[in-house]
Amino acid sequence: MPATTSLPNWLSRRCLRVQTAVVLQAAGLIKNYGDVQALRGADLDVGEGQIVSLLGRNGAGKTTMLSIIAGLLAPDAGSVSIGDVDVLADPEAAAKLLGIAPQETGIYPILTVRQNLEFFGELAGLGASRRPRAVEVADQLGLGPLLDRKASQLSGGEGRRLHTACALVHRPRLLMLDEPTVGADVATRLQLIEAVRQLAEDGAAVVYTTHYLPEVEALDADIVIIDEGQVRARGTQEQLVAEHRLQGVRFTLDGEMPPELASSLGAVEVGDSAYRALGDLDMRGLLSRFGDHADLLTSVEELRPDLETVFLAVTGHRLDSDGSPSEATNNASAGQAAASEGGTP
Ligand code: ATP
Repeated sequence: MPATTSLPNWLSRRCLRVQTAVVLQAAGLIKNYGDVQALRGADLDVGEGQIVSLLGRNGAGKTTMLSIIAGLLAPDAGSVSIGDVDVLADPEAAAKLLGIAPQETGIYPILTVRQNLEFFGELAGLGASRRPRAVEVADQLGLGPLLDRKASQLSGGEGRRLHTACALVHRPRLLMLDEPTVGADVATRLQLIEAVRQLAEDGAAVVYTTHYLPEVEALDADIVIIDEGQVRARGTQEQLVAEHRLQGVRFTLDGEMPPELASSLGAVEVGDSAYRALGDLDMRGLLSRFGDHADLLTSVEELRPDLETVFLAVTGHRLDSDGSPSEATNNASAGQAAASEGGTP
């Protein structure tokens, strides 16, 4: 295990990214549901004060992974530990170290905000400190004025915030949030992100799944891209963008692609009348290359080296904000396509 650093967490996480003590270690996770291979040997480790954002399309295996780590689902193979506790051997001890907010909200509608928070605090082993802690967490998530309101009378966004607050009320060593901001408005998103960052600064390890890329940027998280049950890439946004640089254009046509252009551009068909050409080509360059055929173009989009194109390069698919695949790459990842086209992978 790497040595614990004495640097403040915010400094180690944001600036130096030195290794801190490992809180979560999951290795070689395999899970099949009948014929469906949900996890195919996935690994994940998260250190103290670190936020890891799990990024993947619908069905990539994120929820399955979180459920196994939380001791709620048995894997077919693999190991999970939180601190010194083996989750598979002792899920009850692990549960005390863990806070999890699954996708479905799990708060008690007949209890007030305060009662919900105190109840979850008590379940997690907090004594009298659960009372001030309930108030503190409620304030952090903008629920202070609503402490004595029944959960059934909260708005959707307020209910989501309470759901997350219940997961972090006992200051877990490991916090896992599964798409906590789905359906949340901008203010709710900001409050949730700030609360998560605060918890990480206090030393918790955080696993955060989302389909929403601006959130990953706001969290300043280490990004783990998971696809088809495997971890395909991990790094900071800057590292991933540098490593999986993908540049070029995506365009759609009204009519047939002129064959001579297809080969000179190295364009690959990626959907119905949709093409992608990788390399040092922008919108103006494409228009000039089309020349007399420019009226065939119905849309042109520049691919920039950002998280979205990293995801495309690593998995061969786009990550829409709802996580659904919108574009495939003819059985080859975009990175592979780029390499075989002589473009910039
Ligand atoms: P999403 O972003 O939609 O929440 P995910 O990345 O969390 O997706 P999982 O829910 O882990 O994905 O699902 C991984 C795969 O396992 C999918 O193909 C899914 O259909 C399948 N799966 C999940 N749960 C079950 C189950 N109980 N029985 C059968 N198949 C399942």
